Amino acid sequence: MAELFKNHIDGKWLSAKAGQTFENRNPAKRDDLIGLFPASSAQDVDAAVRAAKQAFSTWRLVPAPKRGELLYRVGELLRKYKEDIARGMTREMGKILKETRGDVQEGIDTAFYVAGEGRRLFGETTPAELPNKFAMSVRAPIGVCALVTPWNFPMAIPTWKMFPALVCGNAVIFKPAEDVPHTGTILVEILLEAGLPDEVIQLVHGRGEQVGAAMVEHPAIPLISFTGSTETGRIVGETCGRLHKRLSLEMGGKNAQIVMDDADLDLALEGALWGAFGTTGQRCTATSRLIIQKKVHDKFLGMLEGRAKALKLGDGRKKGTDVGPLINEDAVRKVETYVDIGQSEGAKLVTGGARPAKMSGGNFFEPTIFTNVKAGSRLEQEEIFGPVLSVLRVKDADEAFAVNNDVKYGLSSSIYTRDVNTAFRALNELDNGITYVNAPTIGAEAHLPFGGVKQTGNGHREGGWEVYEFYSETKVGYADFSGTLQRAQIDTYLGTPD
Ligand code: ADP
Repeated sequence: MAELFKNHIDGKWLSAKAGQTFENRNPAKRDDLIGLFPASSAQDVDAAVRAAKQAFSTWRLVPAPKRGELLYRVGELLRKYKEDIARGMTREMGKILKETRGDVQEGIDTAFYVAGEGRRLFGETTPAELPNKFAMSVRAPIGVCALVTPWNFPMAIPTWKMFPALVCGNAVIFKPAEDVPHTGTILVEILLEAGLPDEVIQLVHGRGEQVGAAMVEHPAIPLISFTGSTETGRIVGETCGRLHKRLSLEMGGKNAQIVMDDADLDLALEGALWGAFGTTGQRCTATSRLIIQKKVHDKFLGMLEGRAKALKLGDGRKKGTDVGPLINEDAVRKVETYVDIGQSEGAKLVTGGARPAKMSGGNFFEPTIFTNVKAGSRLEQEEIFGPVLSVLRVKDADEAFAVNNDVKYGLSSSIYTRDVNTAFRALNELDNGITYVNAPTIGAEAHLPFGGVKQTGNGHREGGWEVYEFYSETKVGYADFSGTLQRAQIDTYLGTPD
């Protein structure tokens, strides 16, 4: 019998009101059923909102340093359970153990960083323009925050949102992606074990079009934080615009690694392999374009092809596996579609391009490289979210930068060069939220703002010091202790002439 998992609503573990469930399966071994999870509906969301509103009224009054201490305990528990969580995560979404350990570590780092912020949610004090008057600002929580998260970082991304939301004094409703409900459940269990008051966190499982949409539409939820595809983000954004909700969007990418003629090619090679095929290419920061300067183009490609062919596909829990499966059958079909598109556009398939033989029990796809990719083609412009690398040849830095910038996304970019001027030009001119020098397009750290420009986001950042602005309101306080009516802009001190 498959294990039956529950929602966490109003401090209780509950099935969906309508009683329906959905399956969660191991993408490396589809006959491995992880469990059944509640297929919730708007009714369940409604119950969660009522409980969260109630919890907010008391949680907001807990001093922020105490909220921070609780998150410190969460960090300690994540550390204690790291290995088990990582193994469960690999079983649930496929990426190799080294990477799922890193995913949990990002949650740990975030917890410890956020814990300290409990003592640093600074407002400002400033002189008032009138005598015997104080002027200051403090950070106030917002209310019930709804977090809609994707499956590729099942621990890291929820913690980027949830921990800052909680330390700022908000109550949270969390909807993990349908493909990773188990890791989401573990995170909530850990928050409760750490001592978070039960009703401050609500967990509602289910499909995006039902549960996610119900959260986005709910009038008593003033804040939505969403990470996912640009297409879904557009729907979420339209609704939030109509309802005047505060919204953080973190969406797609079409990230490029640039390799200049003077680059350390061995280093650039390691970066390209890790950037393109880590997490089976299913990262919003994955390297999906490789822009190589003309003199080293052929040599670098030769080096890359050999190494890509040697990558070992398999179950991410097995030693020696380099690349795990894609998340589900739809993802495999999407990659196949782009392989067809690439070929019809005249790009040259140099390796991969198919499901591997004898691995039909899982959602595997060979690491794939296209060369002769044209700037502006669909293969070069559209997010594939799989192990497909498009290679372009350019004559100089100007052309490389133009190619990098000429896509609708703007998440991350990378340049390999030994020339300090070219490196700083790249930092200055590449139109992305994050640019790496002599490092791959992936590798964000928890204490720096994460996010992108153009259609990758809507101007907000996750992590770092900026996210606290998003999860709190600025509340301004004036205290007049003059004992008289002092009128700003009208009564003047020292008799300044009008
Ligand atoms: P992906 O294609 O990477 O799965 P999605 O954007 O479809 O990305 O999903 C990201 C998250 O958004 C998931 O938790 C999913 O359930 C949720 N989601 C999907 N559709 C909607 C929607 N219409 N409204 C709100 N959330 C949604």
